[in-house]
Amino acid sequence: MADFKHSLVWLRNDLRVDDNPALHAACERSEYVTCCYILDDNVHGDLKMGAASRVWLYYSLKSLAKSLAQYNIRLVLAKSDSLAALGDWVKAGSCDALFWNRLYDQPSIERDKQIKAHFKDDGVDVTSCKGICLFEPWEIENKSGDPYRVYTPFRKACEANVTLIGAPLGRPQKLTHSYGGEMKSDELSDFDLLPKIQWHQKMLETWEVGEEAAHKRLADFCEDGLSDYKQGRDCPGIEKVSRLAPYLHFGEISPRVVWHRAQEFYNRASKESSRASASTFLSELLWREFSISLLYYNPQMTEKPLMEKFENFPWRKDSKGLKAWQTGQTGYPIVDAGMRQLWQEGYMHNRVRMIVASFLVKHQLIPWQDGMQWFWDCLFDADYANNTASWQWVAGCGADAAPYFRIFNPVTQGERFDKAGTYVKKYVPEIADLPEKYIHQPWEAPREVLSKAGLTLGEDYPQPVVGLKEGRDRALDAYNEIKGD
Ligand code: FAD
Repeated sequence: MADFKHSLVWLRNDLRVDDNPALHAACERSEYVTCCYILDDNVHGDLKMGAASRVWLYYSLKSLAKSLAQYNIRLVLAKSDSLAALGDWVKAGSCDALFWNRLYDQPSIERDKQIKAHFKDDGVDVTSCKGICLFEPWEIENKSGDPYRVYTPFRKACEANVTLIGAPLGRPQKLTHSYGGEMKSDELSDFDLLPKIQWHQKMLETWEVGEEAAHKRLADFCEDGLSDYKQGRDCPGIEKVSRLAPYLHFGEISPRVVWHRAQEFYNRASKESSRASASTFLSELLWREFSISLLYYNPQMTEKPLMEKFENFPWRKDSKGLKAWQTGQTGYPIVDAGMRQLWQEGYMHNRVRMIVASFLVKHQLIPWQDGMQWFWDCLFDADYANNTASWQWVAGCGADAAPYFRIFNPVTQGERFDKAGTYVKKYVPEIADLPEKYIHQPWEAPREVLSKAGLTLGEDYPQPVVGLKEGRDRALDAYNEIKGD
């Protein structure tokens, strides 16, 4: 054993220096700390990290390496099996301790358990911490000790236990020296995270990646957004949401910091409407916790519906319809705008996520797993727990889900939440000259109105892929087939 203390911190979905419990604990105990990141594509079976997430990860790791260097901490990288990479580093760096923040999906838990057991046998101290969530799944249980399946009591239980969140830790102390010994690292370019065709440059135009950008985003949102969040969050044409999701997913900012900032905002706010907005925002953060808990207790839910009767649901195979949805060519402007926003920005507004998802699983009767997979590949914030739980929620087969028979009408949703068509016109510019009355239903526009707007349906913009009534009736018939099961 070496005569110095050297800790290895294994970073996963916690790519930050601030309020990082694993990093903090390592810096408290050791003269030397090294951080590592492993790209191990074999943990989640077929569900490898999606293309957009890979792009984000590239820039996030780049930014993190720079931040860590300011603390005299090196970031080493490996594209490899996790145990093999950690074993090599522990040996090469004579590390006597290993730290990480816990993940809550079962494949990661299984892997981490094995790794813990392995290093324990080797005499390496292994410590795992709570760092990616506000509440660990087992911290929020009902009176019988079971997990919650319904959001509202879950939220209330979280609110009754806010002391468990604890105060943010801030940044660790700067180490005197960086470890100078031999620990090999792959180059970030070896990870092959960026696509050969440069589609990602345009996608990143509306984003800055990394911890510093995450804090700036939060500060900007608290300054100009949070006070109107309650009313504004449903309107995709105005910027009243935080856009923090990718930063939270990759852990560039801790949920605890976000929670405390919103809570401080609440405490300081003089207007009732601002306090109500902060409360709504805090409860959205708890939806994230709810998803983490659901996935922890129901690991099968990434593939199977939580409600068993949906296993016999008569979904349609419709590759043409799926393609039209994916490419924003369904003929329903709010759906197409959402799908194009996703493609262009790696992000989609929450209200529109619900509309497009509902359209796919109800009007088009295409399995939610197909939609989930597309989101997984295209979202910068693609998240195992949130993506799965949200798709099941919309499809009506999840915990506390919107009932399947409640079917969003994309026209009335558009008229209600994007009345002037600001959002639709931005992403579906070919219909921008239509008057407000027809912006959410171009097929209803008289010929002369279409011609004045320079639009020929079926050429410049598609006719609807399915009629609203036809799609709705078909969905209800399908639901009736399994209703009694
Ligand atoms: P804000 O409204 O500013 O909310 C702040 C944070 O609260 C979010 O960043 C997120 O962490 C959390 N949050 C907000 N709404 C929800 C919600 N309904 N469920 C869980 N957490 C929430 N969110 C993801 O992070 N990753 C996903 O892969 C994902 N897939 C989704 C798929 C579908 C079909 C739907 C309907 C929703 C999905 N969501 C997902 C949830 C939600 O749409 C996004 O979290 C939100 O739109 C992100 O934007 P924001 O950061 O501006 O949100």
